[in-house]
Amino acid sequence: MGRIKLEEIDTRAPGALQKEQVKLETAGIISELNELQNLLYAESKHSVLVVLQGMDASGKDGLIRKVFGNLNPQGVMVHSFKVPTAEELGHDFLWRIHKNAPAKGMIQLFNRSHYEDILVTRVHNLCDKETAYKRMRAINDFEWLLAEHNNTTILKFYLHISEKEQSLRLNERLDDKTKQWKYNESDFAEAKLWPEYRKVYEDCFEECNKIPWTIVPADQNWYKEYIVAKKLKDALSALKMRYPGLKKA
Ligand code: ATP
Ligand code: MG
Repeated sequence: MGRIKLEEIDTRAPGALQKEQVKLETAGIISELNELQNLLYAESKHSVLVVLQGMDASGKDGLIRKVFGNLNPQGVMVHSFKVPTAEELGHDFLWRIHKNAPAKGMIQLFNRSHYEDILVTRVHNLCDKETAYKRMRAINDFEWLLAEHNNTTILKFYLHISEKEQSLRLNERLDDKTKQWKYNESDFAEAKLWPEYRKVYEDCFEECNKIPWTIVPADQNWYKEYIVAKKLKDALSALKMRYPGLKKA
């Protein structure tokens, strides 16, 4: 497969799709996810890691609420990765990540992830190119380790919004009282670095594709939710899980 070029990928749903129809379908998928999650937890043979990446205001929080909010909280964990603390910086970059990898039976969501250690760090020149490539190799090995040694199904999503949509959402953060808490002083400055972010994202898609990425058109929440819910349902269904039956004495 050639290099993914984000500028060539639509940020909106295919025109023929009917929003209401898709929303109904998503609701059906979410109730199936409930059953599949129960099975995942009961069988406790597999684990699932959902990696969510995207520019500011790409809708990671809303996605977590809408797609995962109805699942059994006992079986879902969310971790949001922020700027590393001094303690975290004293370790290798995967230290804080590995601690949050899912146990068998669990679905773990990463709201941002180990990819930030390439993205934000490269864009701001906090690490050199060689280090970034070394990290990408380490990420490939790490993801493979989880997949091979903890039966972890890893789903990596890039929430793909347009610069225009991002600008609308960031301005909403300034104006809407219920969203002001999300506003970050650096949001508009970061948005100006879009071309730099795009390039590093494309590098990640290219170098870290042993476990593939899904680029999710994310300007419309209903379509983004549908794509992620469907991917998760298909991945869980493919595990061919079975209820374990009575425990042996
Ligand atoms: P939103 O998309 O809604 O803006 P967010 O994920 O940006 O939410 P914030 O609390 O606004 O959440 O910001 C978290 C910040 O932490 C991001 O700017 C991100 O780039 C930064 N961050 C995460 N991991 C790292 C890392 N390894 N190194 C440096 N910065 C990081
Ligand atoms: Mg932010």
